[in-house]
Amino acid sequence: MTTLSGKTALVTGSTSGIGLGIALSLAKAGANLILNGFGDASKVIAEVAQYGGKVGHHPADVSDPAQIADMIAYVEREFGGVDILVNNAGIQHVAPVDEFPVERWDSIIAINLSSVFHSTRLSLPGMRAKGWGRVINIASVHGLVGSTGKAAYVAAKHGVIGLTKVVALETATSNVTCNAICPGWVLTPLVQKQIDDRAATGIDPQQAQHDLLAEKQPSLEFVTPPQLGELVLFLCSEAGSQVRGAAWNVDGGWLAQ
Ligand code: NAD
Repeated sequence: MTTLSGKTALVTGSTSGIGLGIALSLAKAGANLILNGFGDASKVIAEVAQYGGKVGHHPADVSDPAQIADMIAYVEREFGGVDILVNNAGIQHVAPVDEFPVERWDSIIAINLSSVFHSTRLSLPGMRAKGWGRVINIASVHGLVGSTGKAAYVAAKHGVIGLTKVVALETATSNVTCNAICPGWVLTPLVQKQIDDRAATGIDPQQAQHDLLAEKQPSLEFVTPPQLGELVLFLCSEAGSQVRGAAWNVDGGWLAQ
């Protein structure tokens, strides 16, 4: 098992869903954790702290570069800097492109794409100084293929994969790596909302869930946050140290079609 004891991981958007699952995997492997995200953090702090590492929470709204800078400064001050950066915070909005609300476009680009640029540029100098680091971006299958109604999300996630490649090249001769993980459907609040929207049209909720999977994900099973956490641990391990600039899909066969 990968030991990350002595390492500090910052996971954005980790009060829920995939981010929380990844934070729990990193904490189990011995890392100190800085959680980030909205809502009451006390329960998730306790859940992550049960593994014995030091745990903090920073409430930065990652749509604001100044708040990201505050968060990185907090990690440097209280934890000695970020060793593992997991850029995970993200939101979704579904509408046709010619009806897409402009303010939704702006916030999806800010949260799902620009925040990855800001947290990465602010964390890299510390990683380089320590001679080790991992930047892991939670992109999506929608970083590699499109779907109707998701203009901002698909554009942002394609951007994350492009940024991942550039950071991987700029760090290629160091012990800092940068990769993207591209999940298919994972049953989190972000996806539950899309199931609820389908059910609101009168379809049985179980049927709505089945239809959502059947349209895209051949396994007809959701990917789980712990499965994504295990991949993060692999990318943090010595065995993963030459995986650089990858966009690694975990998608029940979605992209094989
Ligand atoms: P979620 O809604 O369960 O969790 C999102 C997290 O981000 C929460 O902790 C929330 O508080 C936080 N967040 C939202 N806006 C924020 C902001 N402005 N500043 C700081 N934190 C903010 O969603 P999820 O499904 O766990 O998604 C996590 C990531 O995984 C996203 O980037 C998403 O695009 C990606 N993803 C999800 C799926 C899926 O099927 N659920 C598939 C592929 C990729």
